[in-house]
Order: sequence, then structure tokens, then C-alpha cells
Amino acid sequence: MSPHSAARVVVVGAGLAGLSAASTLVKAGFQHIQVLEAMGRPGGRVYTTRPFGQNVIELGANWIHGQEANPLFLLAQEQGLLLEEKGSASIMCLPGSVTPRDYFFRESRQQLPVDEVEQVCSFFSGLTSRAFESELEPRHSSQSLGGYLDEEFAQSPLAASEDGPRVFEWCKRSECTDEASSSLYEVSASQLGHYVALEGGFFNSLGPGGYQALADTLLDNLPPGAVLCDRPVHSIHWALQEEKNHTRPVRVLCQGGQCFMADHVIVTVPLGFLKENAVAMFEPALPKSKADAIERLGFGTVDKIYLRFEDRFWPHDCAGIQLVWDAGPEDEEVYQHSQSEGGAWRDMWYKKICGFDTVARHPTVLCGWITGREARHMESLDEKMVGEVCVRMLRSFTGWSVPEPAQVLMSKWGSERFVRGSYTYPPPGVDAVREHTALAAPLPLPCEAGYSQAKPLQVLFAGEATHVNFYTTTHGAYMTGIREAQRLIDLYADSELDSYNE
Ligand SMILES: Cc1cc2nc3c(=O)[nH]c(=O)nc-3n(C[C@H](O)[C@H](O)[C@H](O)COP(=O)(O)OP(=O)(O)OC[C@H]3O[C@@H](n4cnc5c(N)ncnc54)[C@H](O)[C@@H]3O)c2cc1C
Repeated sequence: MSPHSAARVVVVGAGLAGLSAASTLVKAGFQHIQVLEAMGRPGGRVYTTRPFGQNVIELGANWIHGQEANPLFLLAQEQGLLLEEKGSASIMCLPGSVTPRDYFFRESRQQLPVDEVEQVCSFFSGLTSRAFESELEPRHSSQSLGGYLDEEFAQSPLAASEDGPRVFEWCKRSECTDEASSSLYEVSASQLGHYVALEGGFFNSLGPGGYQALADTLLDNLPPGAVLCDRPVHSIHWALQEEKNHTRPVRVLCQGGQCFMADHVIVTVPLGFLKENAVAMFEPALPKSKADAIERLGFGTVDKIYLRFEDRFWPHDCAGIQLVWDAGPEDEEVYQHSQSEGGAWRDMWYKKICGFDTVARHPTVLCGWITGREARHMESLDEKMVGEVCVRMLRSFTGWSVPEPAQVLMSKWGSERFVRGSYTYPPPGVDAVREHTALAAPLPLPCEAGYSQAKPLQVLFAGEATHVNFYTTTHGAYMTGIREAQRLIDLYADSELDSYNE
């Protein structure tokens, strides 16, 4: 048996990173791959459901971000999982972006003129593009995204218009869905320049299987029994010594007591889970550079609230109902104060909902978006109550006759025990490249004292948070799984190291 086919690899987590790692290894001839997934289903933050009939509702990822050079888009295309061809009407807007068919309402039920809204939104998007394209002036380099945006907006004539500041606040709230943050004051302006947006827009035409079909394609490459669900990993013991009768250097212990010995373990658990559990999970403890990265990178919550009505009550040409509150602009000081003063914001959690978008292939369903601390608070409330609050807001902003929803469904990513949030963002003052790189580094680190004789690549790390340029995305997660599998493939291709498994 060749060394690589004898090697035992445990993959922790069956999201896109874990599944792409396992599938790449199996394709390369590795024969002992065990994927351990804590939840009762594979997919992780890809969570395709059918609560309203046969058409899918995505509680997690929805869009393929970019098409050019996006391996996940190519996979979907190859596998015939796309409904429509590139360039068609299926290129969609994210919640933060505006289409001419969005209806913007003020609290006074007044509908805002489209051109006024567009002016502010395109000014806002020009400012964020400068951050994403690393074109900020040096004075902005240490600022938060919110601080930079406030400063630039204050100098614009739009700031003096009646509705400009209100719409600008809406844009900031909406941008929080892209950054998974409570506020843009929690996000670094300059570090966003490391995120790379692939060309080709956001593609939302996965076929009837939804996003899960992509995960299923990877699952299909694995032998039966390779993925075990309901297997939460409790601890990972690495650097086990051969002289103490351990034939393999890693032991993975599940919560139920089941134990797996391995040559390598690929850890793909979300950053939110690591933040809560990394200290207790690894023995020996993670090196300082990795523990620091886990602490420093941000991981915030984005939730969706789906409302299904018996009939559509919004006009046919309306793509979304956006809520523009009257309250003046929130600045950094006000936000920091609200953080320290306790729970006043809880009573107004619903003000964080940007609006309600129509949902593809569901003509009577609206989807609301909410982020950060308010999203986590909402998760603690009863769905019926959340539905009532949403309907009250829709009635009071639009003045339309809005019926009670027939069904309410909301995601709960913040309280999901094995995720604890939605995706990663760079907080102010953090060197994002350094931290993503430290998070991705396999153990033992080459320079670490005491491990010079240790077997290499015992604990590897994948998952969206470990990608320097494509963090937050499904394609980022997918690519990191392939990256870590390739490390192992290269290791075993090196004939000098083959002797380890002989
Ligand atoms: C609401 C929402 C909307 C999104 N929208 C988009 C979008 O439109 N486009 C896009 O590109 N991305 C989007 N994303 C992000 C995208 O879903 C993720 O970046 C990607 O799916 C992450 O994959 P992953 O494999 O890194 O992690 P995950 O999918 O989280 O997989 C990690 C797995 O590890 C498991 N796990 C955790 N702890 C343990 C343990 N102790 N033992 C065993 N298993 C464990 C978890 O249960 C999970 O299944 C969205 C995410 C959310 C939440």
C-alpha cells in the first residue's frame, strides 16, 4: 500500500471547506478519510430548506459571489446546477445594493423619490469601493469603515439635503449585512482592501437543488460512511509521542466518547466556534499566533427573516420595501456609548432591519435582513412575535394593508452552537493578512521549539476565515479545503517523507 493511501485523515466539519478537502483527498487516492460533523446534516453555513413548498429557501449562503475564476461557479456550471446562463437576468443584487425597483419609505409613510435615493446610494457605494480597492487616503488608514464614511459624507452636499443623512444611515445599516457586523464602526476601513471581489456579479440561479446541490456534488465523491453527522468533536490531542505507543500523532475525541486516531486532522470549524472553544479543544494548546488570530479577527451575525403571506400585497414591480428611519445619523461616539450603557438598544432591535426583499421563485414571500447584536437578540424571541413586529413596521412605513403572515421563519446563526455567527470581518487595528495567515498555518509550526522531530502537518486549518482574500464566501471556504488537501498530497508526493508511514 502506498504511503498516502495508508494515511488516516480526519476532517472536522462538513461545510464546503471540509467537503472539498475530503473530496480532493479521495480523488488523489487517499483511502482513509473520515469527516466528523457536529450537526445532524452536512453543509454547515450552506443550509437549503423547503419550508414553503418545493422551491428552496436558503437560510445560509444564497449567492455565488462572482463568476470569473470562481471555482464554485465553474463546478456548478460543470455539474449543470445553474438554471440560467451567465449574463442573464439572474445576476442579482445583494441586500446592501439598490435596484430601481426598490421602494424606499420613510416613517411618515412618504415614499422617497428613486433618483434621490440613488444619488446617496451611489455616493455611498463609491466610498466603499475606494476602501475595497485600497484607494483610501493615508489619513483613513487607521479608521473604522463607519468613521471614514461619516467623515466623507459630512463633506458632501448630500449631507445638507433633507433625506440624504437618513438614506446614508440606511446604506450603513445595509452594508452591515456584507460585513456581518453590528456597526461599521467595528470594521476596519483599510483592511477591506485585502478582500478580492471576483468579476461577474452575484449569481443566484442555482437550480431546484439550491446551494445544497453543490455540497451534494462533493458528498457524491466520497465513499459511503465517510461523513458521520451528529459527531461533535470535543478535543484534538496532537503531537502524541511514538515512544508512548501512539502509532499515529493525532487523537480526535468526540463528545460521545468515540475516538479516531489519525496522521492528520483538517479542522474546518467556523471562527465563531473557535472563539468559544479553541482553548479547551486543543492539547497541546494552540500557539500564540493562532490564538491571537482567533481573538483578533471579527465574526459577526447576519440573519434572515422570511415572511410568507397567503397573497402578495406589494406592487408587481416592487423588488423590496426598504425602511428609512427618521432618527438622525448615528456616529461612532453614540454607538460606543450604546455598547457600554447596557441594553437600551434591545428595545429597538427591529430598527436594525434594513427592509424586506422579494424572494426568487416565491411570489408571496419577503425576506428581511438583520445583523449584529440586534440579530442575536432577535434570535432569543419567539418567531410569532418577530413576525408581528415585522408586519407592524411594514404597515406603519407603507400605509398598505398588510395581512398577517401565514408563516414566519428566521435563521439563528448567532445561537447555533457549532457556528456562533455568520462570517468573518476585519476589525479596526487588525492586520488582516497576518491574522488570516496565522489562522491557516498548519501545526506544528516549522519554527516552534520542541517539535523539530515531530511528524509534519498534524493539524491543518481550513474554512472561510482562513482565506486572505476570499474570507466570508463559499468559494473561499471551498478553496481553503482544496488548499489543505493539496498540502497533504504534496507531503506524500515527496519521497523523503514517504518513510514516515512505512
Ligand atoms: C446568513 C448567511 C448568508 C450567507 N450568504 C452567502 C452568500 O450569499 N454567498 C457566499 O459566498 N457566502 C455566503 N455566506 C457565507 C458562507 O455560507 C460561508 O462562508 C461558507 O459556507 C463557510 O463554509 P465553511 O466550510 O468554512 O464553514 P461551515 O459551513 O460553517 O462548516 C463548518 C462545519 O463545522 C461544523 N462544526 C463546528 N464545530 C464542530 C465540532 N466540534 N465537531 C464537528 N463539526 C463541527 C459545523 O457544524 C459546520 O457544519 C453566508 C453565510 C450566512 C450565515
